[in-house]
This record gives sequence, C-alpha cells and structure tokens, in this order.
Amino acid sequence: MRKLLAIALFASLTVLLFSCKKDKIEDISVPEITGTITGKVVSPNNRTPIRYALVFISTAKKLYSTYTDLNGNFSLTAAAGTAQNLHVQTGNGDKFRSVIQVDVVANQTTPLTDLLRLNQVGNFAFLAGSFDKIENILIDSLGYNAQSINSTNIQYIAGISNFDVLFIDCGAYNAFVNPNTDTALSNFVSGGGSLYLSDWSMEFLTGQSALTDCQVPRYSGFIPDATVCSRRTGGVSVVPNAQVVSPELQYYLGKDSMRISYNLGSWERIQAIDNNFWQTMVTDPTDNSPLLIRTNQYNNGNINLPFVGSRDSSQVTICHQLGNGTTITITVDSSAVADHMAHGDSMGSCNNPYQSGWIYYTTFHNEHNGQISEDVKHILEFMILNL
Ligand SMILES: [Zn+2]
Repeated sequence: MRKLLAIALFASLTVLLFSCKKDKIEDISVPEITGTITGKVVSPNNRTPIRYALVFISTAKKLYSTYTDLNGNFSLTAAAGTAQNLHVQTGNGDKFRSVIQVDVVANQTTPLTDLLRLNQVGNFAFLAGSFDKIENILIDSLGYNAQSINSTNIQYIAGISNFDVLFIDCGAYNAFVNPNTDTALSNFVSGGGSLYLSDWSMEFLTGQSALTDCQVPRYSGFIPDATVCSRRTGGVSVVPNAQVVSPELQYYLGKDSMRISYNLGSWERIQAIDNNFWQTMVTDPTDNSPLLIRTNQYNNGNINLPFVGSRDSSQVTICHQLGNGTTITITVDSSAVADHMAHGDSMGSCNNPYQSGWIYYTTFHNEHNGQISEDVKHILEFMILNL
C-alpha cells in the first residue's frame, strides 16, 4: 500500500512538475532565442529577382515571416533550431513555391550560400493572340513553363481542367460566337482556375463589346455585364502618371505611379465597374477609369464543378491566423496541416468565399515584338506570380 501511495504521489508530482514546466515554456514573457537567415529569391533562370515573395518558417506555435524587397533580398528572424523548413512562395503558394532546409543559429545572421530559386508548382497554359505575348514574360523572362493551347481546347472543360492558370492574349479568339467557351471558362474559374486576360480578350469575360454603348447588353461572355463594361475607345496615347492604387502593387513597384504607353489604338477602355466585385489596382488619373482590375469573387453556383488544376495532395493551402485579426494564405506540406488547424487556421485561401480562381484583366500589355517598359514588365510579372 505504501508503495502504491508512493507511486501515486510520484506520478502526481511528475504531472505537476511537467505542467509547471510546460506552462513556463509557453509563457510569452520568456525571451525566445532567435537567429536570422538572409538570402535572395530569383526565378529559375537565376536572372530575375523575385519581389514581394513571402518567406517564412513555421513552427507549431508561431509563423515567422517576411517579404523580399525590390532586389529579391530578404532577412528573416526566426526561432533558433537546426534543419528547419524555410518556405518561399508568391500568391497563395499553390502555383509558385519552394522549400529548403536551413539551420537558424542562435543570435547569428546566417546568409544562404546559394540563390533561392522560386519553383513553379502549378500547370500553366496560354492562348496566343495577335497583339501581345504574355508568354514572353512568363517563359523567356522568368524561365517558367506554359503549354500552348488553341481555341478548340478552351471550348470544353476537359481541354483546360489540367491547368491551374490560363493566359489569354489580346486578340486571341472571338469568343462571342462560342457559348461552349463561356461554360468551360465559367466552370474553370469557379473550380479554382485562374485567368489572365488583356485588352480585347475582355470578350471572354463579358462578351462582344467593340463600340456599343454600355446600356446595350453584351452577347455571350460568362461574367455578368453589370460587373464591368468596356468599349474600344482607347487611342494611341501615353498615361504618364497612372495611379497604382493597390498596396500590394505599390510594394511590388516601389512607387505609386507609373507610365503606361498604349501603342495601339482601339484598346478597351473601362467605362463602368462594380467595385464590390472587382478590385481596381491601377487607374488613369484623368477620369479615374480602371486600367488594371482583378477579382476572386466569381462563382457560378454549379455544385458539380470539375476538378481543376494540377494540385498535388501533398501540398495544402490554408488561411493562417497571424494574430491581431490578420490572416495570410500559405501553402504547406500536408504533414504540417494538423499543427496549423490546432492554432485556429482554416482550410483554403483567406478572403475567398467560394475558393474560386483569380481573374486579372489589364487594358495594357507587352507588345508582340516583346517590347515593354520596365514598369509594365514588372506589373505583368506581378500578375503572373500572384495568380
Ligand atoms: Zn498556422
């Protein structure tokens, strides 16, 4: 009996001691031991520094994060420890993401010995057009991959559902004659696929626009006409002080205005926009008309949506709680999901009620011969990296 009592006493003491110890570890007043990692994030061809990439180390209790600067450089301070996963991603991390192992040495700054290349983890396709070539930026400048598809492929969801992102150049195809394309693109975006479109490819969104007044319903297109209306009234011109109104884009460019040259006439000028549906990122200060817009608010309500994208089930996109009410979308290995759920995160990307894909639309673009100003090139890079 005495022996049993002794064991019981020992056990409860152990629990007590363990509890006290645990409490002490979790006490936030105890200074944590940290170290710093510095490095530079670049595209796979090592030529283009990646700006505004999220760099983070995630422990069970805390996410340590920072962003790369205009030169792709970062300095991340995190809890000291060996063989930690250092993540880098752009956008939601489901299309561009890399993970390397680092040792965070206590009270020291450790520079990475190699450039940190941002890998493409999504599947991309492009539909070539007549007036621009976004694929020049994506493939030649950044060194990523995209498959060329044709106007027949995009008429059926099966032709595009393997892709995470579809780029549609200006003058790619006259959509208004093909309602099949509308259905396929509607299901693609609702199922989580992202679209990039420029200038005349507005037709794919709202249907045939050309020069008709905005009161006249647009034929075809899958986005409700009431959300945006454009007309081909833009002339050959320069907007010297286009206003960059998106904070993310301001960070990416390092400034809040830019010069945009429209080298072709008859570009789609946006006449009306629903600000609850679209986010305006760049405007023309002369009339406040949007020059670059995006949305992730489209969903067609189809309950039998196809599976869209190349998503690898070992990678999971979640909405992480940073504390003080702010959230951040990150993509992590599936083995890390339980820890994140335990501190109150949720599945899927943040601020995306339907988990739909992004639609980015720009009135300007690069030229077919690849000519482009530095600012416009950076904006196109931003869109590619954040789709
Ligand atoms: Zn988390």
